[in-house]
Amino acid sequence: MRPKLRRNDQSVWVLASHNTSKINEIGAILEPYDIFLRSAADFRLSEPEETEPTFSGNALLKAQAACTATKLPALADDSGLCVEALGGRPGIHSARWAGEPRNFDRAMARIQNELEAAGTDDRRAAFVCVLALVRPDGRQRLYEGRVDGDIIWPPRGDSGFGYDPVFRPDGEMRVFAEMTRSEKARLSHRARALAAMVASEFAND
Ligand code: IMP
Repeated sequence: MRPKLRRNDQSVWVLASHNTSKINEIGAILEPYDIFLRSAADFRLSEPEETEPTFSGNALLKAQAACTATKLPALADDSGLCVEALGGRPGIHSARWAGEPRNFDRAMARIQNELEAAGTDDRRAAFVCVLALVRPDGRQRLYEGRVDGDIIWPPRGDSGFGYDPVFRPDGEMRVFAEMTRSEKARLSHRARALAAMVASEFAND
């Protein structure tokens, strides 16, 4: 069911996510451009299964589904941690490695165990985020943000979420989980993908 919109449809976008912190974070970035962001929950959208083998494929799949259901421009993101010596894993399976219910201590320990088993000193890794924007007229755009760094062990810090306690971005002494929310927001893969989208979509504003 479609809720009443407060503005004309041109300025309303839907974010294909039920995650309130993502809605708030992305909504605040779009507000200066007069885009009013609604969530998947506002439209009671179910989350499609992420069946594609790439971040781009899954972001597009989610944005297309939300655009088709709402007839509004739809944004979706897909992200994860790619560890070089593990061939890019966990990658699109980053959430799944934490199991159900989610346990990221287990997921971080799995990374460490697999690196030890591989017998390598290579600790290079990157957080990657792909943002898809799909419009009702069929236009589709993809924006990527990444932050490179190292896996450190043992885990440190207690802020953030997911793999933040074991990821130290290049040029920093601290892992993500030792940073404040705004420090991380300046560096993060999601912030970079959003900055690329804003630069391209609102170039003339
Ligand atoms: P999603 O794109 O929100 O589905 O996130 C996929 C998974 O990637 C999350 O569940 C986390 O495991 C991991 N991930 C994505 N971004 C971050 C981050 O900024 N910090 C830590 N883990 C992250």
